[in-house]
Amino acid sequence: MKIIPRAFVIGHPVAHSRSPMVHSYWLRQYGLNGAYEMRDVLPYQLGEFIRELRSKCYAGCNVTIPHKATSIPFLDKIDATALAMGAVNTIYWDGDSLVGTNADALGFMRNIDERCPGWAVGASHAVILGAGGAARAAIYGLLERGFTISIFNRTASRAHELARFFHNRVDVIEQAQLASALTAADLLVNATSAGMVHQPELIIDLSNLKSTSVVYDVVYVPLETKLIMKAKMLGHRTCDGLGMLLHQAVIGFELWFGQKALVSSELRELVEADIRANAPGS
Ligand code: NAP
Repeated sequence: MKIIPRAFVIGHPVAHSRSPMVHSYWLRQYGLNGAYEMRDVLPYQLGEFIRELRSKCYAGCNVTIPHKATSIPFLDKIDATALAMGAVNTIYWDGDSLVGTNADALGFMRNIDERCPGWAVGASHAVILGAGGAARAAIYGLLERGFTISIFNRTASRAHELARFFHNRVDVIEQAQLASALTAADLLVNATSAGMVHQPELIIDLSNLKSTSVVYDVVYVPLETKLIMKAKMLGHRTCDGLGMLLHQAVIGFELWFGQKALVSSELRELVEADIRANAPGS
């Protein structure tokens, strides 16, 4: 089977995705013959897209909202990470099999390891806000590192559902317990869409956090959310979400194009400039 070096990001909506910019940069950087394109795929078009990917032997794709779980039945198999997370974000060929994996947790962890060196020394407890795909990645990555985790979500039933998915290895807390939970947190993660452009701000009081606690916002548009600004003002180390996107992309790039890519400061600056240029009001 001859694989065509053409990959995609599929989702709906998908126009905001910075993945084409990242992969096109690496294709140029490494002088590779290939393409990476975005495709707006509605839920009813998902099966048709995967059939096209198969029949044309395209290298694979990234999968974003709303297809991360629903694409699984269309694949030949998923790997252990995607199984443990219940979602795929990267589809590739392994021989004749179309396989799903999930690089979001790896991206989540590599980002904080890079941005906040030594952050995990002596750290053992994380509070995660949210119960969607990003929270799933954060939970999986942190459980793998042996962290204990409390999660809080606006819709409590989704938090309980997620806790059940992870075999109750995470503790669900309610709004009233959040302030006291923060006193024990070595890491606070915003894995909600709150604070993202066109979304309401995240409302949270950080005064109970230990001075050594790290604050991580998975949102990367804007690059510096109000949460990150507030945390910096209080003297916390912080981590934004852009590196998570860049580090997860390394996995797909190597699977599709056979080249291990580097998350360089030049790449980060390129994407940062694009985010700033397209920020509302700029
Ligand atoms: P999702 O699956 O749709 O989940 C959204 C989550 O945000 C839910 O827990 C939702 O709570 C919560 N939420 C939404 N609006 C809220 C508000 N105003 N106040 C409090 N909670 C709110 O989305 P997702 O894929 O997890 O994405 C969440 C964020 O992470 C997005 O900003 C996305 O861009 C970002 N993200 C970043 C990366 C990266 O690489 N950096 C990767 C994935 C996602 P309910 O359950 O109550 O609705």
